[in-house]
Amino acid sequence: MDDCIFCKIVKGEIPSFKVYEDEKVFAFEDINPISPGHTLIIPKRHAQDLWEISGDDLTAIHLASKKIIKAIQDALQPSGVACVQLNGPGANQVVLHYHLHLVPRLAGDPELPVATWELKEGDMEAVRETADKIAAAIK
Ligand code: AMP
Ligand code: ZN
Repeated sequence: MDDCIFCKIVKGEIPSFKVYEDEKVFAFEDINPISPGHTLIIPKRHAQDLWEISGDDLTAIHLASKKIIKAIQDALQPSGVACVQLNGPGANQVVLHYHLHLVPRLAGDPELPVATWELKEGDMEAVRETADKIAAAIK
């Protein structure tokens, strides 16, 4: 897509700190890192989100995530790595080209809000109704 910032990164029209590339996937450092080593993995073929991305590209992203998380572990020795992926502006997706965040957690880092939500027991009847609704919509 012509006006997509991540497509421009794939084409080399915008500079990036590349860490990995293969036939389907490009991975580079986030320029607003939550922590050192915050890496984005994107498909080379434009797809907006999890609804749009092809199965092949999604598989390639996740295979690359395994390679890169190993490299992050060896290079940075994090205490953990959060994999975060947002779909749609309603979920705070800002760049509308699918991307998987790998966010290394280093000793002393403040906790990630997305990983620390408060657990409140659900209404099991409501949980079951919602599960039935989703299950019935699976194609
Ligand atoms: P989000 O869409 O909210 O999942 O996040 C988009 C991410 O893209 C943010 O973490 C930005 O810091 C990052 N970002 C935006 N533009 C660039 C760029 N030119 N190079 C690297 N990272 C970028
Ligand atoms: Zn794009």
